[in-house]
Formats: sequence, C-alpha cells, structure tokens
Amino acid sequence: MLMTEKVLLDPTPEQRNWLWHMSRVATLLYNIALEQRKGHWLRYHGTKPGINYEHQNGQLVELKKEFPFFLCLYSLVAQEALRLLQKDFNSFFGRLKNQKKNGEDVTARPPRFKSSKYFFTLCYIQSGFALEDGKLVLSGGMEPHTDKKGRVKHRRRRETISIAGYRKLPDKVHSLTITHDRKTGNFYASLVYEAEPLKYEAVRPLKVAAFDPGVKTFLTGADNSGRIIVFDSLVKRTTRYFDGQIDKVKSMRDRCKKGSRRHNMLNDVLDSLYRRRSAQVDDELHAIAKLLAEGEWDVVGVGNPDKLGMVSDAPDKGKGNQAINRAVQNNWPLKKENKFLDYKLEYRGKLFLPLDEKYSSQECNSCGHRMKLDPSVRVYRCPKCGMVMDRDENSSVNLLNRVIAGTAQRRVNYKDFRVRITFHRTLCGKWTHREELLRPA
Ligand SMILES: [Zn+2]
Repeated sequence: MLMTEKVLLDPTPEQRNWLWHMSRVATLLYNIALEQRKGHWLRYHGTKPGINYEHQNGQLVELKKEFPFFLCLYSLVAQEALRLLQKDFNSFFGRLKNQKKNGEDVTARPPRFKSSKYFFTLCYIQSGFALEDGKLVLSGGMEPHTDKKGRVKHRRRRETISIAGYRKLPDKVHSLTITHDRKTGNFYASLVYEAEPLKYEAVRPLKVAAFDPGVKTFLTGADNSGRIIVFDSLVKRTTRYFDGQIDKVKSMRDRCKKGSRRHNMLNDVLDSLYRRRSAQVDDELHAIAKLLAEGEWDVVGVGNPDKLGMVSDAPDKGKGNQAINRAVQNNWPLKKENKFLDYKLEYRGKLFLPLDEKYSSQECNSCGHRMKLDPSVRVYRCPKCGMVMDRDENSSVNLLNRVIAGTAQRRVNYKDFRVRITFHRTLCGKWTHREELLRPA
C-alpha cells in the first residue's frame, strides 16, 4: 500500500536559491505552455484539434535547444509541469461541461498564468532523487561548465540536502514532491513510498464496530461486545475556539480599508488562525483514527458523511440554516477522518467500511419501526416497542447491524449494550476515558 511522509528539509542558502531558481523556470515553462494553448485557441477557435500534453511534451527537446536555461530542470520535473497544465485544463473542461449540462451559471475559469512569487511544486516521479544517510540527493538538469582544455561541457547538477531532525526514512520511495511554505519559508519533501502492511490474523467471530458521525458528538459508535463508544473530542472544542477568533478578526478586518497596513496585518493574523485550526484538527483526527485502528476491532464502519455535506446546499438561508452550515463545515474533517482511518486500518490488516446512513437515525434498532425525528430531538422513543435510546446511539446500533449482516452473526439491539465509554483527549495529547454502566447484567 502507498503511504506518504512529509519531511522538513534543511537546505543551505545556496541550495535554497537553486530550488527557487528551478521553481521559477518551471513556472515559466507552465506559463509559456499555457500561452501556446491560448494562442492556438484564439487563432483557430476549435476548428483545429487543440494542443495537448503529448504535443507539448514532444516539443520539450527543441525548446531546451533554443532556450538552454530550461536545461536546469530535471527532465521529468519539466514533464510534470506540463502534465499539471493538462490536469488543470481537464478539470476546467470537466467543470464547464458539468455546469452547462446542469444549466448552472458558468463559473469555471480556464487555468491562469502562475506567478513566480509562489514556489512551483517540483514533482519527482520514480527518478531524479535518492535518499542516502538520512539526506536527500536531488537532481537538477544539465549545467554548463568549462573543462581543463577550455571546452564548454554540460554536466548534471546534484545537491545533497539535509533533512531536519529526522531519524528513519522509508525505503522504497517511488516519488516525491518538493513544496515550500510561504509563511515559514520552510521547504518540505513529501515522500510517497510502498509500505508493507503489518501481519494480522483476525479471529472469528469478527469484532466489529460502527460509528455515526454527528454534529453534537464527533463520533458515536457501537460494537458487538456490547459497548457504546463516544468521541466527544477536541475537534469540536478546537473549531469552536478558532471559529470565534476567526469571526472576530474577520469583522475587524472588514472595517479597515483594503490594502491598508492594518488590513494586511489582520489578514496575516487570519491566515495564521486558519493554519493553526487546521493543524490542530488534523492532529486530533490522526489521534482518533490511531486509537480506533489500534483497538481490538477487525472491521470499523463509519456512516457516510455525504449526507451531512448535502445540508449546506439547502436553498433557504435562514439563521438556523447558517448554524447548521457551520456545523457541517466543522464536520468537514469527517472526510479526512475516513481517509486516515482507511489507511491506518489497512496498514494493520483490518477493514474500513464506509456505510450507507440512509434511515439509520429514523429506525428503531429493536423493532425496525421508522419515524422522522426533528434534529433537535436527542432521544429516540419508539412508540411501538418502547425502546428508549440516545438518538446517535440508536443510529450507530443500526449501522452496526448493517455491518453484522455481512458477518453471519446475530443482530444486536439496545438490550445488548451494557457499558458506555466516552473518550477524551486532554490538551497534552493523552487519552482518558470514562465508563458508565447502562443496565445491570
Ligand atoms: Zn421499536
């Protein structure tokens, strides 16, 4: 399976200049390739077939002959710049087609020229780099030099870049990208490598758990050992704290004149708030995913958050809807969480299951009675069989039964649940949990 690891690079000032130089040349290459496509379109307006990646890639050799400074790029990195342009065009055409088909306003814009102010992400696929003794050896392109007899020759530039405070690097790295963080000025390398999943043998009957993502609690789950598992995590607290700060700074900024020093300063503050929020949320999501992946469950199912995302498209924009929208945006991390869970479980030889959430919150887990519940009603009281359970917990039991249906085990209902475990992560990153007995055994 493929995994990614991001490491902080520690280049010398000279190497920094070199990286920036390559970035600017790659930007230039992207821009002239874009210019070529635009010119072609303006001249022929689609009466002739357009210019595509293969076409431009074929011209790369001649371009380098004519303008030798393009030689400073490793050739596959140059190709990746052209491929990125192709990707950008593809997504533009895709969105355009979709918007036209659905009769929406056309908001899709074709790719734009890139500014050389920003670092152009350099992609190395398969070759042009090596990891040696905890350092990164990176290849550039050919550079001219004069040999002893005074002849001008070209040789490949290679730089050995230190990796900051890092011990063990993955082997079998098959591609990497060099990125730059504008705020801190740091360079990073994201290493994509092939990882061998851990050996794991599941013992039957399988232990399964299912989780219902929610607005009120981040994840509410149930497992087939009779436990309710709740993550009322920091995610909510973190986002609430940052949302408040962000709102405050935003309103302060909007009262300033655009382009003024104060406006710029507040923009920077806002930027750093967004960064810190996302870093903390990511950290939290990784922690939860790790805890679940290292738990005893062989299969972990999570309700599909697509349904939550749909709320934000609701046409009426009342005050109440705004609150829901914000909650939904804060639940955005769910998609990320699923991604983290997916690879963390796969790495441990376990299974992640995205579950269809349809009706899971409307059905009684005991008799299957179905009724609509107002979002504000937190407890499910079944009028048919008298089952009483927390709304999210009922929903997670239903989800659990959907997983169980595939394992040839007995269905469960509310009577099977004896204990509720609520997980908290303290501010220093340690987990604590609280257990409550639900009913005497
Ligand atoms: Zn019932």
